[in-house]
Amino acid sequence: MFDWLVIGGGIHGCTISTYLIKHRKVQSEKLCIIDPHSEPMARWKRNTARISMQYLRSPSVHHIDVHPFSLQHFGKIAEEHNPFYGMYKRPSLQLFNEHSDKVIFETNLTNSWHRGLVTNVQKVMDFWEVTTEKGEIIRSKNVIIAISVNEQLLIPDGAEELAVESPNRVHHIFDDNLGDLTEMRAPIAIIGGGITAAHLAIKMAKEYPGEVTLIKRHPFRLHDFDSDPGWLGLKRQGPYRKVKDYTIRREQIKEARLKGSVPRDVLHKIKRLEIEHKLRVVDGEVNSYITEQEYLRLNVNSLSIKVRNVLLATGFLPTRPGEWVEKLIEAENLSCANCGYPIVNKDLEWCPHLYVMGPLAELEIGPIARNVSGARQAAERIVSSL
Ligand SMILES: Cc1cc2nc3c(=O)[nH]c(=O)nc-3n(C[C@H](O)[C@H](O)[C@H](O)COP(=O)(O)OP(=O)(O)OC[C@H]3O[C@@H](n4cnc5c(N)ncnc54)[C@H](O)[C@@H]3O)c2cc1C
Repeated sequence: MFDWLVIGGGIHGCTISTYLIKHRKVQSEKLCIIDPHSEPMARWKRNTARISMQYLRSPSVHHIDVHPFSLQHFGKIAEEHNPFYGMYKRPSLQLFNEHSDKVIFETNLTNSWHRGLVTNVQKVMDFWEVTTEKGEIIRSKNVIIAISVNEQLLIPDGAEELAVESPNRVHHIFDDNLGDLTEMRAPIAIIGGGITAAHLAIKMAKEYPGEVTLIKRHPFRLHDFDSDPGWLGLKRQGPYRKVKDYTIRREQIKEARLKGSVPRDVLHKIKRLEIEHKLRVVDGEVNSYITEQEYLRLNVNSLSIKVRNVLLATGFLPTRPGEWVEKLIEAENLSCANCGYPIVNKDLEWCPHLYVMGPLAELEIGPIARNVSGARQAAERIVSSL
């Protein structure tokens, strides 16, 4: 029997595990982290590597360790040339990952790692029984659900038919089955107007200069962060916590999230590539297409764009993650808002000894819930309630 079991070993799962261990709320042998990957934070590392993201968008005080300046101190001894970028000291991806690996090593999280996919969670007397896809049953006194929406790939309406008709030529950038992008045949269209699309466009334009078109529905939205920094603290969270109607909270989250936005440095790189004719940027939607033997012709406004491959950088479906959570909700009579997301207390407890983090905690934490800062705040709330 474990004391704590964390479902999902991404940034959120690793942050709470680190907090539990470093605050001495659990011993390594009494902690179990279940995740289908072979190592911690695998999905994060794969997704960010795939788009060759150089620097994180978030500042250096956002990381998986307990002490806020842990990453900054680590950066000082790093051998990397430019480990931080700009006034917010945004860490390089390499530094962030090396620091995470160091924290994971210090806390011996791999000792608590159990490779598997959770398919069911049920209460038995005063503990939880967690079942994996292999039929294993693991028992724990407390459970934290730290899964994300990152597996729910969003294919936009205009591209659905195209993706079904030409599955070998149209791919979501975070698709598990997507092969090596450097072996893809150009010309290539990238669909999407946010930071993922921008990073991807920079990568692909360097790989295939003059053969990449970025197609986006709206002009670039320039914002340093993906929500106003006031949401990190009481300035915005204070009034938000006073809102008792969860439909209004959901509306506020939607409004606060600066979806499809890019920070200045990334936009500068895009503009430079455009000026150098290495990248074409088109504002508009694919309203029709023609499939040919070798090419796809995408009709955007009055343009016909001839490509061999289309990459969708269109994000994730916002629906509540984890199909198996439905059964748990019914069995334990757990509260959910109209949007389907959990209503939890301020300690992120959905019912006694069952906690949530990440998107599942967003009605309590607010628009930053999915980010690294949200992971830290969630971990602080859970640990300080123990
Ligand atoms: C390209 C990109 C760049 C980003 N950059 C930033 C940034 O700079 N700053 C920032 O603050 N945020 C950033 N984010 C947002 C956020 O921090 C990341 O999405 C981060 O990966 C979220 O961590 P997570 O642990 O919630 O999710 P994930 O990394 O997706 O981890 C969840 C884990 O849960 C596992 N899981 C799912 N279902 C089950 C199950 N049934 N049983 C067991 N395990 C399960 C998954 O396999 C996965 O390993 C970025 C996101 C993306 C996509």
